[in-house]
Amino acid sequence: MRTAFTRKLLAWWARAARDLPWRRTRDPYRVLVSEFMLQQTQVARVAEYYPRFLERFPDLETLARARPRAVREAWDGLGYYARASNLHALARVVSRDHDGKLPDVPEELVKLPGVGPYTAGAVATFAYEKPVPAVDTNVARVVRRVFFASRISHPASRQIWDLTRTLVPKNGKRAWKFNQAIMELGALICVARKPRCEQCPLRPDCKTGRRSAARP
Ligand code: SF4
Repeated sequence: MRTAFTRKLLAWWARAARDLPWRRTRDPYRVLVSEFMLQQTQVARVAEYYPRFLERFPDLETLARARPRAVREAWDGLGYYARASNLHALARVVSRDHDGKLPDVPEELVKLPGVGPYTAGAVATFAYEKPVPAVDTNVARVVRRVFFASRISHPASRQIWDLTRTLVPKNGKRAWKFNQAIMELGALICVARKPRCEQCPLRPDCKTGRRSAARP
């Protein structure tokens, strides 16, 4: 079932994926900036601010040298400024302690300011094509609905991460696509309030989708 899950998900991704600016790059700094912005902001809004921020701070060293006020100004309109100051602090730490190069494994990334397990996984897979999971709320929802249908069972976050880890392809390029695809499915089809099961490629294998199909 897990192989079928990945195969169907990747086939869906090939025809349904949105073309978003941060999906066209593997530059770790650019991936990192997109992940910080996307933490609490809608995709459409990030797509508007992302190029502007990168024009002003095109690389990690430029950001590390910037004044806090300039960073805040460039973030203006995105809200949740703690993200901007964490990103700025991170750039300084990486510049000082890592020769300006972002680490490529989640275990190191997670030690940096403002980086939790999701962002660490996302940078590792989206920038460095590492075969690791990146479980955000969209991904957790898809995995929970597909594999844990019972209304009684509410899997712990650790269970969701462990299961997702077993789904991620070992090949880095496929892992990149898998992580993008499952996130995209959660954003477009397996949405929080009313999942669009009738449009979902995973329905035949999904415990929740099969149950809803069986309802009169
Ligand atoms: S079939 Fe429905 S519940 Fe299952 S993954 Fe697809 S959209 Fe989500």
